[in-house]
Amino acid sequence: MLIRKKVFNMECSVCHNKNLELININHAMFRHLDFTTFKESGRMGRCTGCQMLYNILSQKDIDQLDRLYCSREYAQSHQTSQTFIVEKYQKPVTRCFLQTELIIPHLHSPHPHILDIGCFDGALLSDFNSKLPQAQLFGYDVNENLKDFFPQKSNFHFRCGELADIPSGFDLICMSHSIILVRNLPNLMKQIKRLLKPKGLLFIQTPNITKNPCYILLADQYYCFTPVIMSNMLQHFGFKYIPLEQNWFARDIAVLTRLNGPATKSYHQDLDIYKSIETLDTMAIRLLELPGKNRIFVLGTTTNGAFVDSVLKDRLYGFVDENPNSIGKLFRFKNVIHPDTLAKNDTVIIPYGTSSPTIKERFSRHYQGIYMCM
Ligand SMILES: [Zn+2]
Repeated sequence: MLIRKKVFNMECSVCHNKNLELININHAMFRHLDFTTFKESGRMGRCTGCQMLYNILSQKDIDQLDRLYCSREYAQSHQTSQTFIVEKYQKPVTRCFLQTELIIPHLHSPHPHILDIGCFDGALLSDFNSKLPQAQLFGYDVNENLKDFFPQKSNFHFRCGELADIPSGFDLICMSHSIILVRNLPNLMKQIKRLLKPKGLLFIQTPNITKNPCYILLADQYYCFTPVIMSNMLQHFGFKYIPLEQNWFARDIAVLTRLNGPATKSYHQDLDIYKSIETLDTMAIRLLELPGKNRIFVLGTTTNGAFVDSVLKDRLYGFVDENPNSIGKLFRFKNVIHPDTLAKNDTVIIPYGTSSPTIKERFSRHYQGIYMCM
């Protein structure tokens, strides 16, 4: 295993350790708005105390990203429309639908107060509303333009500005793929503790970089998590780490947690970041060794597809996606096609690690093409 021990002076915002290992990432980094390339390489800091992984951004990067994520262009992007094919349901379902299926059995009140931090257009709260019509649903986001896209119903409440201005008393606070985008994590955790009722629940879902190394490559995130790092962080702030029993989000961390008395400052070590970087390096080498005669596509229009495109460049012909919202559009300036238009000799890369063989099996049954798992 490749371990880089270079230590530099940056303070960990969680445990205040002053020595962080510097990790270089020699791959393109993408912005999560549209997965275009933001930088050609990246740097991370790994806290040797609580193990937090920081994406190192310059002040110029931060200012540029702040402007983008508070813009109308961002508010108008449709990023919550991704669908999942899950055995239990006949039709494709959304991430929000599955999240409410997981969370609602743990709620004790039929009319809970729910806060979604990083609510975007309120899609998750809308799914709660269809199953819990008596709930009071609060959405918080830093982009005030999102107010225009947020449901206009009497039990829906949009909040912008400071979290500190929101009155407390929530049965549930949700953070779906948003915790990595909040710069001041200690303040966030302090506010969550204040906002929750004593027995209130906190739901966090975020990419697991052990299972999905491509998520290291999000240029605009402040942190990366593995289950161990998430557990260390939650316990540091006095929460108990309880992974949700689920297999719908195999490449994410999904936890439902509640306050658990005093904070714990004993941390478990986690060096998975080095394995994840090695996985990316190996994938890049395999991609560059692909024989050149067939058309090459990649499955998916998120970080994993962007990574394959950033390595193959002009050799990648386009993207394959089953989501009707993506077909016929451009992703990273290339065409997105439905797999039923693939030709027999087209090569399709499935870059989803341990999930790839199952996807390959289903695609080979339904569509033409030569499928390659990575
Ligand atoms: Zn730390």
